[in-house]
This record gives sequence, structure tokens and C-alpha cells, in this order.
Amino acid sequence: MTPRKRSYRKGPGYVLTEAIRQKMRESSRKRWQDKRQRDHLSKLRTITLPVEKIISLYKSGLSLRKIAPRFGVNYDTIWRRLKSEGVLIRQKGTTGHHWGKDHHKWKGSTAGYTALHTRLNRRFGKPKSCDVCGTSDPSKVYDWANLTGHYDDPKDFKRMCRKCHINFDFVKNGSRRDRKRKGVKRG
Ligand SMILES: [Zn+2]
Repeated sequence: MTPRKRSYRKGPGYVLTEAIRQKMRESSRKRWQDKRQRDHLSKLRTITLPVEKIISLYKSGLSLRKIAPRFGVNYDTIWRRLKSEGVLIRQKGTTGHHWGKDHHKWKGSTAGYTALHTRLNRRFGKPKSCDVCGTSDPSKVYDWANLTGHYDDPKDFKRMCRKCHINFDFVKNGSRRDRKRKGVKRG
């Protein structure tokens, strides 16, 4: 077997260092020396599971934790079996996560100011530079600035430093008092 450099269980950025691998080797040896655990593990290997059915259930969107009790096994048994079948395991806890339009709190174009920016920050990260003046000075404050009032369109936002943002809004909407009079949304 070729040594695996990464553990996908902890996400793609997780690198299995030699120290961690050594720990894993030790704990695996311990497991093997304990007869009770050894019996348990060998029993798990002989359980016949309808793998095809489990895979199709898993791909239909059910989580491992929901599937496992149906077959009278633990979550990790299924996990191990799917993994050996080469099924791509979703990141833990993401089953049932709905983004964008599927999310129950999705408000589309009427999304509140905070929700809107949370959405942008989650998708693209917090802005750390300005698309207008090009600065990325870490001491400055950056915003997602809305360009033409299409608040439901993530493409209608630009990263701006606070200074360029205020300037941009001023050119777009006039002074703060004008904005209030016209009922212009913040953005
Ligand atoms: Zn700027």
C-alpha cells in the first residue's frame, strides 16, 4: 500500500505529518494487542452489508448517521465500508446544509443588510483589499459595496475600502440626507 499523505477525514488542507502517523501506528498496535478490540474489528470485517444500497442511499443525500441504524451497525462501520469502496465521503455535518435558494432563511432580494453581507462573506470571505484603489493595507476597513442595487446578485458587489465605499456611495446616491429622503438602502 502506498502511504497516504493526507487524511481526507479532516478536510483537504489537513496534512498527515510523520508524528501523527507514528501516533496512529502506535494506537493501531494497541488495538491489535487488545483481544477484545481485535475480535470486535474482525467481526466488523465479516458483517455483510448491502453496499450498493448503502451507496445509493448515501448519494441520495442521507447522512451516514441516518443510514447506519437501518442496518444495525455503527456510523463508523459504514464510513469505513464506503471509504474502501472509494465513495467520496462528504465533510462531517454538512448533510442537510442548504445554501442559497434552498436555505430556509433565504430571503432573496429582500435579504436584510446583515444577512446579505454574511452571505457574501461566507461565499467569498471577508474583503481584505479594495477593488477601486487597489490597497490591501491590513489596518484599513473593507466592505462589500453594492454597485447597482441588485442586492440579490453576488456579482453586483465589489470589495472596497471604507474610504472608496463612502466616496462611491456619495457619487451614486448623494449625501446621507439625500439618501434618507430617497429611501436608498445601505449596501
Ligand atoms: Zn479603496
